[in-house]
Amino acid sequence: MSVLNQKTIKKTINVDGVALHSGKKVHMEIKPSEPNTGIVFKRTDLKNNNIVIPGIFNVSSANFCTTISNDYGAKISTIEHLMGAFHGMGIDNALVEVNNDELPILDGSAKLFVEEIIKTGIEISNSPIKVIKIEKKINFNDGKKFVSIEPSKLSLDIDFEIKYNNSLIGTQRNLIKVYEHDLTDVFNSRTFCLYEDIDKLKKMNLAQGGSLENAIVVKDKKTLNKDGLRNKLEFVNHKILDCMGDLYLSGYKIIGKLTCSQGGHKLTNQLLRKVFKDDANFSIIEVKENKIPHSFINKRYLKSIA
Ligand SMILES: [Zn+2]
Repeated sequence: MSVLNQKTIKKTINVDGVALHSGKKVHMEIKPSEPNTGIVFKRTDLKNNNIVIPGIFNVSSANFCTTISNDYGAKISTIEHLMGAFHGMGIDNALVEVNNDELPILDGSAKLFVEEIIKTGIEISNSPIKVIKIEKKINFNDGKKFVSIEPSKLSLDIDFEIKYNNSLIGTQRNLIKVYEHDLTDVFNSRTFCLYEDIDKLKKMNLAQGGSLENAIVVKDKKTLNKDGLRNKLEFVNHKILDCMGDLYLSGYKIIGKLTCSQGGHKLTNQLLRKVFKDDANFSIIEVKENKIPHSFINKRYLKSIA
């Protein structure tokens, strides 16, 4: 059995929580699934046409969170933290059932998803994984914001920068090698907002379930959360978690180097649409163990297999 084979979880994971934007209570179940089925979402509150695939071209909104929809208008929002957990943990196949149109926000990070996956264990199949190799450099710019992806040898590097006028957040930059680095800080980093933006978000019918339990709220030079930050680069690390989740909507792990300044869900999705519009920009490879060094898979998270 190879760690480069496709993986799913050993048993069903049950999660209950509140949806960040709608404020509704949500129940979800993450179930094991067969090789080559990928990550699939299912709305259990809908009788028909309830399957929603997390694909780049199924992103119907990327403002404030990532929302996917199917051809019949069934949508699921705020999938990015779970997708980031799947990506970082190497989960290739899973069925995610949810009884509402938004996933629970939990503590605003991927921490609980990752802990549950580790607790449940990872099942390795006999089918080799596939990866997407970026073949050409592609850029996407929007004013001061930019994002690019270019070929890399064997890793997925995310080099992300944020620039805020707020003096606590300021300019933060971090580079994460997704298949090699310890991702704990990235998984644990929470979503954040400025105190002065809360009213505006609520008026837009967003963040109805938002609280200090599921987001960092920054007011001037301080966080309103009593315990402060979980790590020094928590703001940019959260953006890297979002980016890992959004990249996983391409369907497979990616080999490439992404560089982003001041981007987010929308910019990442626009970049990926550009990449996947043209077959010359990428190739899909089936990975056999002898083709790739062990560092490609982050073995740290495979402890639970034994
Ligand atoms: Zn996020």
